[in-house]
Amino acid sequence: MAVAPFLKHWRTTFERVQKFVSPAYFTDCNLRGRLFGDSCPVTLSSFLTSERLTYGEAVQQDFSPAQVGDRFGPTWWTCWFRVELVIPEAWVGQEVHLCWQSDGESLVWRDGEPVQGLTNEGEKTSYVLTDKLKEGDPRSLTLYVEVACNGLLGAGKGNIIAAPDPEKLFQLTQARLAVFHRDVHKLLVDLELLLGMAKGLGEHDQRSFQALYTANQMVNVCDPAQPETYSAAKALASKFFGQHGGESQHTIHAMGHCHIDTAWLWPFKETVRKCARSWSTTVRLMEQNTDFVFACSQAQQLEWVKNHYPGLHARLQEFACRGQFVPVGGTWVEMDGNLPSGESMVRQFLQGQNFFLQEFGKMCSEFWLPDTFGYSAQLPQIMSGCGIKRFLTQKLSWNLVNSFPHHTFFWEGLDGSRVLVHFPPGDSYGMQGSVEEVLKTVTNNRDKGRTNHSGFLFGFGDGGGGPTQTMLDRLKRLGNTDGLPRVQLSSPGQLFTALERDSVQLCTWVGELFLELHNGTYTTHAQLKKRNRECEQILHDVEMLSSLALARSAHFLYPAAQLQHLWRLLLLNQFHDVLTGSCIQLVAEDAMNYYEDIHSHGNTLLNAAAAALCAGEPGPKGLLVINTLPWKRTEVLALPKPGGAHSLALVTVPSVGYAPAPTPTSLQPLLPQQPVFVVQETDGSVTLDNGIIRVRLDPTGCLTSLVLVASGREAIAEGALGNQFVLFDDVPLYWDAWDVMDYHLETRKPVRGQAGTLAVGTEGGLRGSACFLLQISPSSRLSQEVVLDIGCPYVRFHTEVHWHEAHKFLKVEFPARIRSPQATYEIQFGHLQRPTHYNTSWDWARYEVWAHRWIDLSECDFGLALLNNCKYGTSVRGNVLSLSLLRAPKAPDVTADMGRHEFTYALMPHKGSFQEAGVIHAAYNLNFPLLALSAPSPAPATTWSAFSVSSPAVVLETIKQAEKSHQPRTLVLRLYEAYGSHVDCWLYTSLPVQEAILCDLLEQRDPTGHLSLQDNRLKLTFSPFQVKSLLLVLQPPPN
Ligand SMILES: [Zn+2]
Repeated sequence: MAVAPFLKHWRTTFERVQKFVSPAYFTDCNLRGRLFGDSCPVTLSSFLTSERLTYGEAVQQDFSPAQVGDRFGPTWWTCWFRVELVIPEAWVGQEVHLCWQSDGESLVWRDGEPVQGLTNEGEKTSYVLTDKLKEGDPRSLTLYVEVACNGLLGAGKGNIIAAPDPEKLFQLTQARLAVFHRDVHKLLVDLELLLGMAKGLGEHDQRSFQALYTANQMVNVCDPAQPETYSAAKALASKFFGQHGGESQHTIHAMGHCHIDTAWLWPFKETVRKCARSWSTTVRLMEQNTDFVFACSQAQQLEWVKNHYPGLHARLQEFACRGQFVPVGGTWVEMDGNLPSGESMVRQFLQGQNFFLQEFGKMCSEFWLPDTFGYSAQLPQIMSGCGIKRFLTQKLSWNLVNSFPHHTFFWEGLDGSRVLVHFPPGDSYGMQGSVEEVLKTVTNNRDKGRTNHSGFLFGFGDGGGGPTQTMLDRLKRLGNTDGLPRVQLSSPGQLFTALERDSVQLCTWVGELFLELHNGTYTTHAQLKKRNRECEQILHDVEMLSSLALARSAHFLYPAAQLQHLWRLLLLNQFHDVLTGSCIQLVAEDAMNYYEDIHSHGNTLLNAAAAALCAGEPGPKGLLVINTLPWKRTEVLALPKPGGAHSLALVTVPSVGYAPAPTPTSLQPLLPQQPVFVVQETDGSVTLDNGIIRVRLDPTGCLTSLVLVASGREAIAEGALGNQFVLFDDVPLYWDAWDVMDYHLETRKPVRGQAGTLAVGTEGGLRGSACFLLQISPSSRLSQEVVLDIGCPYVRFHTEVHWHEAHKFLKVEFPARIRSPQATYEIQFGHLQRPTHYNTSWDWARYEVWAHRWIDLSECDFGLALLNNCKYGTSVRGNVLSLSLLRAPKAPDVTADMGRHEFTYALMPHKGSFQEAGVIHAAYNLNFPLLALSAPSPAPATTWSAFSVSSPAVVLETIKQAEKSHQPRTLVLRLYEAYGSHVDCWLYTSLPVQEAILCDLLEQRDPTGHLSLQDNRLKLTFSPFQVKSLLLVLQPPPN
């Protein structure tokens, strides 16, 4: 019989129980010391390789004798161990584990299949050989353990985000068989939960004392040396945990999860193995716990497993059928939520959802992006269009300045689409099932009273790992205990269904979900960003030209498989630690190689499509100039001449179409526009004037004046300098590649140029330009060509920088003669406004923001737009437009951004609104240069246009073949309303269209979406920022 506690000293009672379960103290006599019983050694042999071999390749190598204590490496190598074991006969009836400890992430292979991951950091140091050894069970066994020379979070030298230590050695510190005492484990779980309640509920709570005294009594009745005493302790715990809470208890939906960064502090190839380690463990847990549900995102990772570990993939499919393995997210990878284009975001879902449907029989119902650095205001529309109305994340809990006011709410996007959002209130996707986390989930929940349900994601994350049996044991024990919320093992579907029931009470958040941290990720690793923009453009052009070729040529085969492959590479690189630049050097190098693949294959496909497009058209052999944008363009183009030289020509190309390149005799057409004049004054300053704008540069290359000629209106603030480069000290609090802190603004240093460096480049006519050099610092320099073309409403700044800095941030500024409390920034399929002042904490937390191709600052009837061809970081404070150019963080990649860069930005003053002035079109033009492709056979002699749209507010963004293979002659068109207005418009086409139907973003027909097609045109109606997709069924080829 238990003895009553004699005294009332809270701390001694608490610490007594703590020591009873401690892994560090008194293990000679406490309960923890009894967790394992008898043990015996195993026989080890090993071999080391620099490659990531398959199991089949590995087991055929020569293994040499090895032992515990061996060191191996270096970083990124692999040590394979053969483990020969014999379980002693005396252990019949016992649970037997292989205990394995190494600082390298390990994977156990049994009979040629991966069966479990083992990682110290993931609290997985034992592999259960049998939960009860029976008479007659085989006792001799050979296993293989594949030990990667990296930890769960890579191999950072000194701290986790430091660059990997290439020389690091790893060690095997334990490998033995041991008897495991499951009853001891269960008592330890109970005692730890009781301690958690005693501490977490606090001394004002009577249940806290009940928990403490129950634990104390358990210690009194339990003699670790006498297992027969355990049942008395267990009975005390069961009585306590069996005391249920009331009907109004909050319900926590605990879902297993394992966040695996697709590449981060380790390369893509290691992630393939991380998936196997994490998910083979998960399969075992699902076998052992039939109520355990695991939510798994990122189709790419599942595809890797399908290709590299087909047996494991088949098991995952089995558990998906049982409802235990739940694919979530719907996307190819968990992409960055800010930088990818609208079309890229659509493709994340298109590739992802189709993969989930094909492999797991259904599409995902929840969008899942727990770890991304902010969320575009267009995501609600994009996810809704892809069959998803629910969204789970938690990253806004990282906000540095403001605490986000909701955990469960409706999110209304730019176009008014609404989705239900839940942030697990524990503010983590890597919970472990402790009482502290369970309590935090309720106390932290900002929507208590409005909804009585919370999500809870448990399992080691970031580097993988996932849930453990101990986490499951804790959560199951807490099922329904007075004093704590109810905990149920649940699925994302069950959670959201419960939240939807309470949804009438929920609040709505309108617009972007801006993360007040990691704002450096809009700029870090400029080359990745540049290549991303360029590859988005290439794939756009390839799809468009291939579609037109398909429509016009009976013999053209649309390169669907190649395009899928290239898109998937681009989508992979948009992962939230790759495109953001927050990855190690190895990852950035792989990503650049993927971009190069897209670039080179894309160009091959582009030429093939162009050749097919003009085949059979009579005309002179030569060049074809192609416009992939949905409006007519007249631009100066550099045409290749024999011998590698170029000549400038002014060409006009119709919307989504082509024109023959001007022949040498036609190179000097009658110019309707004023030619460009270039004048250098005696003081060294240069004026460029094309009759639309007049640009004046001072002798150092700074912009002293920018005038809209027709109105005489000056765009540069009085007495101020535009095109002013500025350097900032850029030392964040910790997350080097990620963060630029507010205080960097206090270190602003203008880079002063030297008078006399400015010179005239191109002398005028079709094009005029001026060039200068600028020494940024003793080690970094810049050169720039400022270019003005005939008829062009903007001036371009072609910039080359040699950048060798540490913790510096380079920006360029344009103080405008404009006053407005808000500026406009382009985002996916639209734009939004942000304040230009720092009134409230929500305003000043946005001192560094992101945009896509343009930003604009306008007052009534006049404005100034800043366009770019590969930048994302920006800001407008007061009247100063600023573009973020280059950073120099040193972790996790010391080489980030070092070296040569090339980029272009442009400045466009305008009358009226930016919409009417054509800023959106101008930014597209800058990003989608006219293509001059050589026609292998005679090039067409006439111009041709496939599509045009009657309203400039509507952008025809994408033309592609439909995904479904049974629709080879069906095109998909995607259009969006770009002004922020209600619009009726006509879409014209010269293609032989048989039928036109509206569809969703996944290309599924809208049953009521038939469009009437008359006189080669169809009518479309848009609301502000609405994205519409249509299927155009083409007539059979003429043949
Ligand atoms: Zn992540």
